[in-house]
Amino acid sequence: MFNSVTQVFVRLLLMYRIAILLVVAAFSSCSSDDRSRDEDARISVVTTTTMITDMVKQIAGDKVQLTGLMGPGVDPHLYEPIPSDGIALSEADLIFYNGLFLEGQMTSDLKNQGGIDFGSTVSEDQLKGDQSHPDPHIWGNAQIWAGCIPLVVKALSDADPQNSSHYKERGDRLIEVLRDLHQWSRSRVESLPEDSRILITSHDAFEYFGESYGFRVVALQGISTATEAGIAERVKLVDFIKKNQIKSIFIESSVSPAAIKSIAEDSGAKIGGELFSDAMGEPGDIENSNDEEYDLGTYQGMLKHNINTIVEALK
Ligand SMILES: [Zn+2]
Repeated sequence: MFNSVTQVFVRLLLMYRIAILLVVAAFSSCSSDDRSRDEDARISVVTTTTMITDMVKQIAGDKVQLTGLMGPGVDPHLYEPIPSDGIALSEADLIFYNGLFLEGQMTSDLKNQGGIDFGSTVSEDQLKGDQSHPDPHIWGNAQIWAGCIPLVVKALSDADPQNSSHYKERGDRLIEVLRDLHQWSRSRVESLPEDSRILITSHDAFEYFGESYGFRVVALQGISTATEAGIAERVKLVDFIKKNQIKSIFIESSVSPAAIKSIAEDSGAKIGGELFSDAMGEPGDIENSNDEEYDLGTYQGMLKHNINTIVEALK
């Protein structure tokens, strides 16, 4: 009798303590949510590729809450959204994406959520590829990429008018930085003999780059990584390399290096290094080359790395 009364009492006490813990937990999570919302009144911006994330970061600084969906080394053609991406997109005040079918599986979602499309700024005469398969790799040309800056400045200013002069100032400065970068890239390539200016990579991501900085571009795969190259394409590329006595070919940070490595073996060409095609490097990863230091996680660092790597390997 005494035992069973004690047991009931102990059980009641336990239930009471659990109830108290649950109530405390519910209250504390509630209040911390409210607090973080109160503290962060900034607009929330969601971006897709690392290049777009970096542009928004360089223009907005810490005035926005920025979420980039794709990290370094991620191939946007094949990227499959994860559940947290859906939440981020549905809660965003602004969404920026590349468009031109770069974000293969996400394109219609991004459009439906009111995303702002970088590809829409490129004029028809600048656009490569054809109407059904436009070439999305517009960041390859710093001048075309700088043409997307006003789109970002305007969208940020419309969504957050009190910081509009901040966005305008930093946007204008970035346009100048990219103009200088474009000139630097052109003159750096001039140190390379004209007949060595042939760039061979995994997939056709460098057409805009090649046109603006003076390279003939040959790739194993097409403008998307979604279809693999067949045996005929591999044989053709090996022949081309031998015939033109090309010293070096390049792997890409967001594409498997296996196919290019086997082409190098079969043709006798060297691997000239790793280029950033569809994703940039890790922010804060500093490279030192050609008497200069740059951050591989920025657009400027990405382009400098690519130009320096190619020039050093082909000269
Ligand atoms: Zn690509």
